[in-house]
Amino acid sequence: MLPGMSDLDLEAHIRDIPDWPEPGIVFKDITPLLADPTAFRGAIDAMVGPFVDRGITKVVGIEARGFILGAPVADRLGAGFVPIRKAGKLPHDIHHQEYELEYGTDRIEVHSDAVGSTDTVLIVDDVLATGGTAAAAIRLIDALGASVAGLAVLVELAFLDGRSKLNGAGVHTVVHYGPT
Ligand code: AMP
Repeated sequence: MLPGMSDLDLEAHIRDIPDWPEPGIVFKDITPLLADPTAFRGAIDAMVGPFVDRGITKVVGIEARGFILGAPVADRLGAGFVPIRKAGKLPHDIHHQEYELEYGTDRIEVHSDAVGSTDTVLIVDDVLATGGTAAAAIRLIDALGASVAGLAVLVELAFLDGRSKLNGAGVHTVVHYGPT
Protein backbone atom coordinates (compact mmCIF):
# COMPACT_ATOMS: atom_id res chain seq x y z
CA MET A 1 0.00 0.00 0.00
CA LEU A 2 1.26 3.48 -0.84
CA PRO A 3 1.82 6.11 1.89
CA GLY A 4 -1.43 7.91 2.66
CA MET A 5 -3.49 5.37 0.74
CA SER A 6 -5.79 4.77 3.71
CA ASP A 7 -7.05 8.33 3.18
CA LEU A 8 -7.91 7.64 -0.44
CA ASP A 9 -11.63 7.97 -1.16
CA LEU A 10 -12.12 5.48 -3.98
CA GLU A 11 -15.89 5.99 -3.98
CA ALA A 12 -15.33 9.63 -5.01
CA HIS A 13 -13.84 8.31 -8.27
CA ILE A 14 -16.82 6.10 -9.15
CA ARG A 15 -19.57 7.80 -11.17
CA ASP A 16 -23.26 6.89 -11.00
CA ILE A 17 -25.00 6.71 -14.37
CA PRO A 18 -28.76 6.48 -13.65
CA ASP A 19 -30.98 4.41 -15.96
CA TRP A 20 -28.11 2.85 -17.94
CA PRO A 21 -28.05 0.51 -19.79
CA GLU A 22 -31.79 0.46 -19.05
CA PRO A 23 -34.34 2.22 -16.80
CA GLY A 24 -33.97 1.42 -13.09
CA ILE A 25 -30.29 0.42 -13.21
CA VAL A 26 -27.72 2.75 -11.65
CA PHE A 27 -24.54 1.89 -13.52
CA LYS A 28 -21.32 2.22 -11.50
CA ASP A 29 -18.88 3.78 -13.96
CA ILE A 30 -15.31 3.12 -12.83
CA THR A 31 -13.62 4.92 -15.76
CA PRO A 32 -12.84 8.03 -13.64
CA LEU A 33 -11.10 5.77 -11.10
CA LEU A 34 -9.12 4.01 -13.85
CA ALA A 35 -8.05 7.38 -15.27
CA ASP A 36 -6.66 8.60 -11.94
CA PRO A 37 -3.23 7.05 -11.32
CA THR A 38 -3.40 7.26 -7.52
CA ALA A 39 -6.94 5.89 -7.32
CA PHE A 40 -6.18 3.12 -9.82
CA ARG A 41 -3.12 1.99 -7.91
CA GLY A 42 -4.97 2.29 -4.59
CA ALA A 43 -7.81 0.16 -5.93
CA ILE A 44 -5.42 -2.57 -7.09
CA ASP A 45 -3.57 -2.45 -3.74
CA ALA A 46 -6.84 -2.87 -1.88
CA MET A 47 -8.02 -5.75 -4.08
CA VAL A 48 -4.72 -7.64 -3.79
CA GLY A 49 -4.21 -7.23 -0.01
CA PRO A 50 -5.92 -10.35 1.39
CA PHE A 51 -4.55 -12.59 -1.33
CA VAL A 52 -0.82 -11.94 -0.99
CA ASP A 53 0.89 -15.15 0.18
CA ARG A 54 -2.17 -17.26 -0.62
CA GLY A 55 -0.36 -19.18 -3.35
CA ILE A 56 -2.48 -17.78 -6.18
CA THR A 57 -1.25 -19.25 -9.48
CA LYS A 58 -3.91 -17.79 -11.82
CA VAL A 59 -6.05 -14.67 -11.72
CA VAL A 60 -9.25 -15.08 -13.73
CA GLY A 61 -10.71 -11.79 -14.98
CA ILE A 62 -14.30 -11.49 -16.20
CA GLU A 63 -14.88 -9.56 -19.45
CA ALA A 64 -14.50 -6.69 -19.79
CA ARG A 65 -13.69 -4.59 -16.73
CA GLY A 66 -12.42 -7.68 -14.92
CA PHE A 67 -9.62 -7.72 -17.52
CA ILE A 68 -8.56 -4.16 -16.69
CA LEU A 69 -8.45 -4.87 -12.95
CA GLY A 70 -7.41 -8.52 -13.10
CA ALA A 71 -4.25 -8.07 -15.18
CA PRO A 72 -2.49 -5.75 -12.68
CA VAL A 73 -3.75 -7.92 -9.80
CA ALA A 74 -2.15 -10.95 -11.48
CA ASP A 75 1.10 -9.09 -11.98
CA ARG A 76 1.19 -8.04 -8.29
CA LEU A 77 0.59 -11.61 -7.16
CA GLY A 78 3.15 -13.10 -9.55
CA ALA A 79 0.30 -15.12 -11.10
CA GLY A 80 -0.80 -15.79 -14.65
CA PHE A 81 -3.89 -14.12 -16.12
CA VAL A 82 -6.85 -15.99 -17.64
CA PRO A 83 -9.80 -14.30 -19.39
CA ILE A 84 -13.41 -15.39 -18.91
CA ARG A 85 -15.20 -14.01 -21.98
CA LYS A 86 -18.70 -13.50 -23.32
CA ALA A 87 -19.96 -16.09 -25.82
CA GLY A 88 -18.09 -16.65 -29.06
CA LYS A 89 -14.92 -14.67 -28.38
CA LEU A 90 -12.41 -17.38 -27.44
CA PRO A 91 -10.67 -19.22 -30.30
CA HIS A 92 -9.77 -22.56 -28.66
CA ASP A 93 -11.78 -25.36 -26.94
CA ILE A 94 -14.08 -23.87 -24.28
CA HIS A 95 -16.19 -24.63 -21.21
CA HIS A 96 -19.29 -22.46 -20.77
CA GLN A 97 -21.91 -21.41 -18.17
CA GLU A 98 -25.23 -19.59 -18.56
CA TYR A 99 -25.96 -16.92 -15.93
CA GLU A 100 -28.36 -14.14 -14.98
CA LEU A 101 -27.37 -10.48 -14.86
CA GLU A 102 -28.97 -7.64 -12.94
CA TYR A 103 -30.24 -6.75 -16.43
CA GLY A 104 -30.87 -9.83 -18.64
CA THR A 105 -29.13 -13.17 -19.13
CA ASP A 106 -25.80 -14.06 -20.65
CA ARG A 107 -23.22 -16.79 -21.10
CA ILE A 108 -19.54 -16.85 -20.19
CA GLU A 109 -16.77 -19.04 -21.52
CA VAL A 110 -13.20 -20.00 -20.64
CA HIS A 111 -10.57 -21.98 -22.51
CA SER A 112 -10.77 -25.59 -21.28
CA ASP A 113 -7.02 -25.76 -20.72
CA ALA A 114 -6.68 -22.33 -19.07
CA VAL A 115 -6.59 -23.68 -15.50
CA GLY A 116 -6.29 -27.18 -14.04
CA SER A 117 -6.02 -29.20 -10.85
CA THR A 118 -2.67 -27.67 -9.86
CA ASP A 119 -4.04 -24.10 -9.93
CA THR A 120 -5.18 -21.89 -7.06
CA VAL A 121 -7.41 -19.23 -8.61
CA LEU A 122 -8.47 -15.71 -7.69
CA ILE A 123 -11.50 -14.43 -9.65
CA VAL A 124 -11.59 -10.66 -10.33
CA ASP A 125 -14.41 -8.38 -11.51
CA ASP A 126 -15.42 -4.73 -11.16
CA VAL A 127 -18.93 -4.99 -9.66
CA LEU A 128 -20.69 -7.65 -7.56
CA ALA A 129 -24.40 -7.04 -8.14
CA THR A 130 -26.81 -10.01 -8.02
CA GLY A 131 -23.87 -12.42 -7.91
CA GLY A 132 -24.95 -14.39 -10.97
CA THR A 133 -21.80 -13.65 -12.95
CA ALA A 134 -19.47 -14.48 -10.07
CA ALA A 135 -21.38 -17.69 -9.28
CA ALA A 136 -21.09 -18.78 -12.93
CA ALA A 137 -17.37 -18.00 -12.92
CA ILE A 138 -16.87 -20.14 -9.79
CA ARG A 139 -18.75 -23.01 -11.45
CA LEU A 140 -16.59 -22.70 -14.58
CA ILE A 141 -13.33 -22.82 -12.62
CA ASP A 142 -14.64 -25.70 -10.46
CA ALA A 143 -15.52 -27.62 -13.63
CA LEU A 144 -11.91 -27.37 -14.78
CA GLY A 145 -10.71 -28.92 -11.51
CA ALA A 146 -8.92 -25.85 -10.13
CA SER A 147 -9.31 -24.55 -6.58
CA VAL A 148 -10.99 -21.12 -6.12
CA ALA A 149 -9.18 -19.26 -3.33
CA GLY A 150 -11.57 -16.32 -3.51
CA LEU A 151 -12.98 -13.36 -5.39
CA ALA A 152 -11.65 -9.81 -5.42
CA VAL A 153 -14.23 -7.29 -6.62
CA LEU A 154 -13.85 -3.52 -6.58
CA VAL A 155 -17.50 -2.55 -5.97
CA GLU A 156 -20.20 -4.42 -4.03
CA LEU A 157 -23.88 -3.49 -4.40
CA ALA A 158 -24.67 -5.04 -1.02
CA PHE A 159 -28.40 -4.31 -1.29
CA LEU A 160 -28.59 -6.96 -4.04
CA ASP A 161 -27.09 -9.60 -1.71
CA GLY A 162 -24.88 -11.19 -4.37
CA ARG A 163 -22.82 -12.87 -1.64
CA SER A 164 -25.71 -15.21 -0.86
CA LYS A 165 -25.20 -16.87 -4.28
CA LEU A 166 -21.52 -17.57 -3.69
CA ASN A 167 -21.77 -20.41 -1.14
CA GLY A 168 -19.25 -18.96 1.28
CA ALA A 169 -16.50 -18.41 -1.31
CA GLY A 170 -14.04 -15.89 0.12
CA VAL A 171 -15.35 -12.63 -1.34
CA HIS A 172 -13.26 -9.50 -0.82
CA THR A 173 -14.82 -6.21 -1.95
CA VAL A 174 -13.41 -2.71 -1.58
CA VAL A 175 -16.17 -0.10 -2.11
CA HIS A 176 -19.61 -0.92 -0.69
CA TYR A 177 -23.05 0.52 -1.45
CA GLY A 178 -26.04 -0.29 0.74
CA PRO A 179 -27.92 -2.08 2.13
CA THR A 180 -30.40 0.75 1.58
P1 AMP B 1 -24.20 -9.66 -11.38
O1 AMP B 1 -24.07 -10.93 -12.14
O2 AMP B 1 -25.64 -9.21 -11.24
O3 AMP B 1 -23.49 -9.72 -10.05
O4 AMP B 1 -23.54 -8.52 -12.24
C1 AMP B 1 -22.16 -8.35 -12.24
C2 AMP B 1 -21.64 -8.06 -13.62
O5 AMP B 1 -22.45 -7.14 -14.33
C3 AMP B 1 -20.28 -7.42 -13.52
O6 AMP B 1 -19.45 -8.00 -14.52
C4 AMP B 1 -20.51 -5.96 -13.75
O7 AMP B 1 -19.57 -5.46 -14.66
C5 AMP B 1 -21.89 -5.85 -14.36
N1 AMP B 1 -22.81 -5.00 -13.59
C6 AMP B 1 -23.97 -5.41 -12.99
N2 AMP B 1 -24.60 -4.40 -12.40
C7 AMP B 1 -23.82 -3.32 -12.59
C8 AMP B 1 -23.93 -1.94 -12.19
N3 AMP B 1 -24.98 -1.48 -11.49
N4 AMP B 1 -22.93 -1.10 -12.55
C9 AMP B 1 -21.87 -1.56 -13.27
N5 AMP B 1 -21.72 -2.83 -13.67
C10 AMP B 1 -22.68 -3.70 -13.34
